[in-house]
Amino acid sequence: MKTKRMQMRTALASLMLLLSLAVFAQEKQLPNVVILATGGTIAGAGTSATGSAYTSGQVKIEAMIDAVPNIRKLANLRGEQIANVGSQDMSVKIWIDLANRINTLLAGNDVDGIVITHGTDTQEETAYFLNLVVKSDKPVVLTGSMRPSTALSAEGPLNLYNAVAVAANPKSKGYGVMVVMNDEIHSAHGVKKMITTPVQTFQSPEEGMMGTVIFGEVEFFHKTYGLNTVNSEFSVAGVKELPRVDIVYACADVSPDLIDLMVKAGAKGIVVAGVGDGNMNAGTLEAAKRATKMGIPVVRASRVPVGTVLLKGEINDEEYGTVSSMELNPQKARVLLMMALLKKRSREDLQKLYIDY
Ligand code: ASP
Repeated sequence: MKTKRMQMRTALASLMLLLSLAVFAQEKQLPNVVILATGGTIAGAGTSATGSAYTSGQVKIEAMIDAVPNIRKLANLRGEQIANVGSQDMSVKIWIDLANRINTLLAGNDVDGIVITHGTDTQEETAYFLNLVVKSDKPVVLTGSMRPSTALSAEGPLNLYNAVAVAANPKSKGYGVMVVMNDEIHSAHGVKKMITTPVQTFQSPEEGMMGTVIFGEVEFFHKTYGLNTVNSEFSVAGVKELPRVDIVYACADVSPDLIDLMVKAGAKGIVVAGVGDGNMNAGTLEAAKRATKMGIPVVRASRVPVGTVLLKGEINDEEYGTVSSMELNPQKARVLLMMALLKKRSREDLQKLYIDY
């Protein structure tokens, strides 16, 4: 009787060992993806499933992962909470922390891709910043949601599932930093938040979406425009803060002293969200000239959501010392200028950066 029990125990132990070996083998085959959480509506919570009021950045990353069925079948997942803010409170400090963490993780052989959960308000800026300073061609994917986790038909869980699917897929290498939402894959260079609250907010009006991801099935159509990641000259190694760059929003009869006031307040560079093709009234143009003469670069972007600011349009950039942002919108043009200003550059060099990146 005793021997029979012992035999059963040994058999059970062997079975357990085999089972754990099988689980281990399966885990080893899956790619390793780290999710870096920063907050946003995807981690937001409200009191009613049908009300529009909520607070961003309430749910922690482990709870967010646990809320997504089958997500652990896509990759070996690990979450890290980098911040938990609405992205209206995203800061240069969080950007630098995030970039350093990503570079450390991706330098190792044990991480195949990164997902970042992030509010949608400034997601395109973070994506574009990381596109300049991440030193790896492994996939880096930002995602978020328009509806908080407590809302009826919250789309965050599927967005997170799809973002992990893209980050875990070997074919996602070499596309630069990506934004995945609403079944679409967008490039950091092309993506723009186009609509205030509906789920189809992210669009790439000039470049078009780079691909789609439908319930984890990844398909790419084309690569992005511009230098990025491993081909970018920019780096945050040793960088603790970035130079102050302010944005002037142009309109009919805009006060011409705004640029002067920003320079006085300590701005090291100015972006003008110009009217039309990066235009501004005569007084503002003169203020831009004063700033550029003092060595404060002024970049002309546009408040119009779609299109390129022409190099040779109504404004002669050489005369005013200004630079065209090309197709970068004002907020991304600001990111590039902050990084560019870490080094002294001529107007021509700056213009080349806007053409190349
Ligand atoms: N205000 C929110 C944020 O950017 C909006 C969102 O995530 O959709 O964090």
